[in-house]
Amino acid sequence: MDNCIFCKIIQGTIPSDRVYQSEDVVAFRDLNPQAPVHVLVVPKNHVPSLDDPRAADGKMLAAVMSGVQKLVKQLNLEKGYRVVANCGSDGGQTVEHIHFHLLGRRLMQWPPG
Ligand code: AMP
Repeated sequence: MDNCIFCKIIQGTIPSDRVYQSEDVVAFRDLNPQAPVHVLVVPKNHVPSLDDPRAADGKMLAAVMSGVQKLVKQLNLEKGYRVVANCGSDGGQTVEHIHFHLLGRRLMQWPPG
């Protein structure tokens, strides 16, 4: 998608601090971190949000979870972490390209704000 910031990061036309990539996903550090470790795990295919039927694609979801599990080891998050996917305006989604926040190295609160 021409106007999608995450597509540009995936293509490498906008810089990012990339920490992981596979055939189907990339992961890079969030510009505005909400925890000492805050990484976005982003499928390479442009799917706007969790609401899109393509978000239920098993291969994509497996690639996301495989990425998360590798990043947990790579970034030393074995003590615990949180994975968040915001959807829509009430859900706090600001970038319309599906992504999963991986947050760690601090004690998380529940319920979230
Ligand atoms: P969400 O609000 O759930 O859609 O998450 C979007 C996230 O993307 C926010 O946490 C932003 O800080 C992050 N973000 C936006 N632009 C960039 C960028 N160029 N590089 C890294 N993270 C970004």
